[in-house]
Amino acid sequence: MEDARGLLKQYFGFDDFREGQKPLIDAVLDGRDVLGIMPTGAGKSLCFQIPALMMPGITLVVSPLISLMKDQVGALNQAGIHAAFLNSSLSMGQYRKALDLAREGRYKIIYVAPERLETEGFLRFALSPGVDISFLAVDEAHCVSQWGQDFRPSYLKILSFLEKLPRRPVLGAYTATATVEVKEDVLDILNLRDPLVVTTGFDRANLFFGVKKPRDKYRELESYLREKEEKMPGSSGIVYCLSRKSVEEVCYQLREAGFSVTRYHAGLSDTERRENQDDFIYDRRQIMVATNAFGMGIDKPDVRFVIHYNMPKNMESYYQEAGRAGRDGEPAECILYFGAADQRTNRFLIEHGEDNQELDEETRRIVMEKDLGRLKQMTFYCATSGCLRHYILDYFGEESSAECRNCSNCLEEFDLLDVTEQAEAVVRCIEGCQRSFGVNLIVDVLRGADNQKIRQRGLEENPEYKALPDMTVPRLKQLINEMMMQGFLNLSNDDYPVIELTDRSEELLSGEKLVIKVPKREEKQAPKARKK
Ligand code: ADP
Repeated sequence: MEDARGLLKQYFGFDDFREGQKPLIDAVLDGRDVLGIMPTGAGKSLCFQIPALMMPGITLVVSPLISLMKDQVGALNQAGIHAAFLNSSLSMGQYRKALDLAREGRYKIIYVAPERLETEGFLRFALSPGVDISFLAVDEAHCVSQWGQDFRPSYLKILSFLEKLPRRPVLGAYTATATVEVKEDVLDILNLRDPLVVTTGFDRANLFFGVKKPRDKYRELESYLREKEEKMPGSSGIVYCLSRKSVEEVCYQLREAGFSVTRYHAGLSDTERRENQDDFIYDRRQIMVATNAFGMGIDKPDVRFVIHYNMPKNMESYYQEAGRAGRDGEPAECILYFGAADQRTNRFLIEHGEDNQELDEETRRIVMEKDLGRLKQMTFYCATSGCLRHYILDYFGEESSAECRNCSNCLEEFDLLDVTEQAEAVVRCIEGCQRSFGVNLIVDVLRGADNQKIRQRGLEENPEYKALPDMTVPRLKQLINEMMMQGFLNLSNDDYPVIELTDRSEELLSGEKLVIKVPKREEKQAPKARKK
């Protein structure tokens, strides 16, 4: 029998396994369940494709996305491996034909959508005499978890499907989501037996991470691209936008400005999407402006930058999208442009979006709350003055040093500003309000704004009204954000999020110090709180 390394070379053309691949493959071949947690681009697919080639019988791969299945099956067929997919993109006739061929043993690997597993036709196939399903691989396994970013109730069918099989196949689960909750859920829900769990490092040392808060995002982008053009002519990059509309606008503007640019979003025809994607992959166009619809299953190794024109909805999405830069291991940049509107838009999308339509009301509410929690963590990434890489790795449960020296915060020179007095003023201001208010109104009160909202609510009477008249709005918001990140304040999950005190707020009034970092290049400002 061919050994795994031989197959790696023969079918995929690679000489060596990457971190984690070999142990995951070997365990499956030994008949042991596995859980592989590896970042996007690390090479999870080979971890189930190679054992599939070496085991007797058929390997089923459960996968959530039609496009992903098509791409992988296409690539396998091209490599000379017999594989097929079964999902709703097939007509009834095609589906039956595929099942017939599968029954005849024509495919070594079959990709299947989770909804199919328990359909009558599929079960009949799976239970046919002579059909031996020896290995079941669950791709994007985080979909079983309500903690995951894309919970799919249909993933829960995997277990009952397994129970119906005459012989339980070896089970492999693969995901790029490494949070503790998701990992526990995957192990539990899929009921993995004494699995080998392999987690490879999430750090991508060649990526530079940056956050910017440009006044004018488009101008920032254009000057960034001009500089790139000068220093590294011809380099490719992706610009991610939150909506189709902004993809259109940004793409149009860049084209007018003379850049080699194309676009991708779900509103375009299949043909145009395919063409634009190819233009980008084959370097006919350098810049791809796209929504998050672009990227899954696309492997362009030399993407030199990924710019997020808007903040995405959570860290999982961000790291996945940003991670499309620098797959070749050469230096690449991932820069996020943050604007206050991004948070509102994401909130809106979470609350009114089309995701999670298949969930019942109760589950939808739970998922929405978790989504809002994740959005908050994403916002903190944009607000932190600490090391960005450390923040990311910490989010994914990995330990790392406090400074990476390869992110915008590590390279920025900061002054430390003691804002303990100011933080006290914030706490007293909130205490002094009859009810809870949003960040903007609290900022107005502290700065002593004289507007209708303040007057209508009698907020001039607040003991801290005009307590911080000299602090700029961004600085005050930074302070409030820092207080939230450290748990001294909380932002509610309501339609209009309000600031609330926490158990820890009092600590600030009884001696706890608070320091924020202020970029040296910014005007120094350490305004005093007004003395009582
Ligand atoms: P993931 O599913 O983890 O995001 P993929 O399985 O799509 O990653 O693999 C990402 C890319 O890495 C693919 O282009 C794949 O061909 C390549 N790759 C996988 N394993 C190896 C290897 N051992 N050596 C070189 N390239 C590899």
